[in-house]
Amino acid sequence: MASPDPTLFDKVVNLCKRRSFVFPSAEIYGGFRSTYDYGPLGVLMLRNVKDAWWRSMVQLRSDVVGLDAAILSPPQVWEASGHLENFSDPLVDCTECKTRHREDQLDDPDTCPSCGKSGTFTEARAFNLMFKTQAGPVEGSGADVYLRPETAQGMFINFKNVLETSRKKPPFGIAQVGKSFRNEITPGNFVFRTREFEQMELEFFVPPDEANDWYQYWMQERHQWYLDLGIPEELIRLRAHDDDELSHYSSGTSDVEFLFPWGWGELEGIANRGDFDLVQHAKHSGQKLEYFDQGTGERYVPHCIEPAAGATRSMMAFLMAAYDEEQVNDDTRTVLRLHPRLAPYKIAVLPLSKKDTLLPKAEEILEMLQPHFMCDYDITQAIGKRYRRQDEIGTPYCVTIDFDSLDDDAVTVRERDSMDQERVPTSELVNYLTQQLAL
Ligand code: ATP
Repeated sequence: MASPDPTLFDKVVNLCKRRSFVFPSAEIYGGFRSTYDYGPLGVLMLRNVKDAWWRSMVQLRSDVVGLDAAILSPPQVWEASGHLENFSDPLVDCTECKTRHREDQLDDPDTCPSCGKSGTFTEARAFNLMFKTQAGPVEGSGADVYLRPETAQGMFINFKNVLETSRKKPPFGIAQVGKSFRNEITPGNFVFRTREFEQMELEFFVPPDEANDWYQYWMQERHQWYLDLGIPEELIRLRAHDDDELSHYSSGTSDVEFLFPWGWGELEGIANRGDFDLVQHAKHSGQKLEYFDQGTGERYVPHCIEPAAGATRSMMAFLMAAYDEEQVNDDTRTVLRLHPRLAPYKIAVLPLSKKDTLLPKAEEILEMLQPHFMCDYDITQAIGKRYRRQDEIGTPYCVTIDFDSLDDDAVTVRERDSMDQERVPTSELVNYLTQQLAL
């Protein structure tokens, strides 16, 4: 098993800040703990992660439809789902140094990891992770609303709407990508655990007797998704939950885990949830949440398989897996070997010099490529430095316009990983890059 480089974490976090992937939030005010903003490159990459998920889960399938449900939701939803009662972590306070900890994450449940004292913890109490706020100007419990701690409930409460309007029947799924909020006791490890994060979730509704087959199917599909996007096999695994880890309604849960510098961490959970969610919402709302087949007269509550992934957490894993340093002559080259689908820029257009004669040609080529690919344009410093800058942010191809380009109407295309260069006629450039990138 590969053991991750212990310095990798700091290197990736530094790169993220330096190259505008991720900034600490509210930094000019001293920062806002464990909250992050996605900068010019981060927003491109995060969007690419979500688009890659949407492409595979919605666009390339005819049995899944999309949804974008509200973030604010009334207490009834969370009462039915069980979150009001159960969505909590055991919290302990250290009476000595006043720090707070999740009891289930302590190496030694008697010793405070902050001050090292033993026997200073209070009794554990259940700390609900949902953010609660008030809707409208009226004070009082009637106006309580919650920020969703997962996107999944949006799919369950819209099950009936989607079933009645989409002409789908089980097996079919509803997919959603969006923000979720959890008042985590111990956020940390950069964007691995934050209080505001993005999820990519599918609820896949199936006839009850097909549930186990579909559970197996989704485990394999989801594992393969990360492999297809370039995570090496030794850094990603599927781990089935032990019986004592399973929620009471789940007949099977497996996590897709990534080998982070501190060890294996969950990127996604795939759960066989049975009919728990639809039954709960039917009970609490008084609505029938079931499937009725008019042809056969068959009526049942579908079972649900849920692959639930984190977009922000996966982006961090993709960055960690892609980060590489290699010796080139006497120099160390930092290169993000990102899958082209995930790379913030697909192409960098680089005029060899800032001379007036080259810039119009370079701008013409940039404008030709922009409708097809997300492009960067860089005219500052020597060409070698500019190649390195693109390597460091994972740009798969650089297109260089030199003085010969003015005569032969061709450009040099340099590939990121091999650094191989090829001369390509301008008229063939879009086709050439489309084929090479194979997006
Ligand atoms: P964990 O055990 O790490 O707290 P979880 O099992 O509670 O995660 P789920 O409720 O299954 O997580 O959520 C699905 C996915 O959402 C997780 O696999 C993870 O990628 C992402 N996720 C959950 N909580 C956070 C968080 N606080 N910050 C970033 N991503 C998160």
